[in-house]
Amino acid sequence: MLDRANRNIEYLRVSITDRCNLRCVYCMPEGGVPGLSHEAILRYEEILRIVRVAAKKGIRKVRLTGGEPLVRKDVVSLIKEIAAIPGIDDLSLTTNGILLGKMAEGLYDAGLRRINISLDSLNPVRFGELTRGGDLRAVLDGIRRAEETGFDPIKINVVAIKGINDNEIREFARLTLTRPYHVRFIEFMPTGGIATWDGGRIITADEIMDKISALGRLSAVNQDSQGGQKAKAGGPAKLYKLPDAMGILGFISALSNHFCGSCNRLRLTADGKLRPCLFSETEIDIKAPLRSGCGDAELSRLISLALAVKPEGHSIAGGIKDKYRRSMSKIGG
Ligand code: SAM
Ligand code: SF4
Repeated sequence: MLDRANRNIEYLRVSITDRCNLRCVYCMPEGGVPGLSHEAILRYEEILRIVRVAAKKGIRKVRLTGGEPLVRKDVVSLIKEIAAIPGIDDLSLTTNGILLGKMAEGLYDAGLRRINISLDSLNPVRFGELTRGGDLRAVLDGIRRAEETGFDPIKINVVAIKGINDNEIREFARLTLTRPYHVRFIEFMPTGGIATWDGGRIITADEIMDKISALGRLSAVNQDSQGGQKAKAGGPAKLYKLPDAMGILGFISALSNHFCGSCNRLRLTADGKLRPCLFSETEIDIKAPLRSGCGDAELSRLISLALAVKPEGHSIAGGIKDKYRRSMSKIGG
């Protein structure tokens, strides 16, 4: 599926819930965001229908996210069904890891092979503060269980925020010396729902790399050398390795270094909107037509429409005045 900027759109990020068992300070307000009603959320059969139509149009890669995808009931059965859709050859999930220890095996058996775990501090007290009550031990146990179960690669996503966790950047990078993880640093982004968006807290990917180079020379990793599935998983991260490291470091700079030119994704929000760009409020309602009984041809047309209105780029790096309306938990980060 080529969009108007000639980008091949083959990746659908599906938010399956807006609910979460954490309240990360950079993602949600303290009291949480008003939850969507049960009726407002797409049912599994509706998600499956959209993914089937999207797969016929050229979507190859699906990532489940949220909110916290593992809090939605029967997520394992959804995964089993998506994994069986012809054309979907890469299925992954992003989680905060709290429930992963208990669920890793079931997820793997359902056909999931790749997992991203968000983890912003290795210090239990700071982790508790950042997530407003999360238990670091549960996440570390989840990562260990995922590794034992056979997930590969295991990606750990760290949102780097000045004055909050920037003094842990090297410790996170050191993880790759002894574990085969992909540790990826993500720039803090101005999404809605957070009380104190402050551009001064952004640490750019270059600054992060600078800090890490004190541990050793970073050599660039050719994404293709990662082989098959893993190469496809590369996406917008620039990949590097420390000398003799088992794992890989990734730097995702949505703000300082646009990757819009190679953006290959569409998002489906939990309440059934196709969102062509994280940083644009344009959304196309797919739930209402779906529930009023439209055929697959109409769903296909709506997906094409999302492609037609996908912006060629964003300009948020040049001065962010307002936060975006929806928080990341509502969009599906
Ligand atoms: N709950 C799951 C999790 O935390 O992994 C999935 C949803 S969460 C919204 C997806 C990703 O968005 C997480 O890696 C989180 O760190 C990231 N995120 C949320 N708010 C962000 C922000 N303001 N800037 C950068 N990343 C953000
Ligand atoms: Fe929940 Fe993920 Fe947002 Fe944290 S980042 S509040 S875990 S949705």
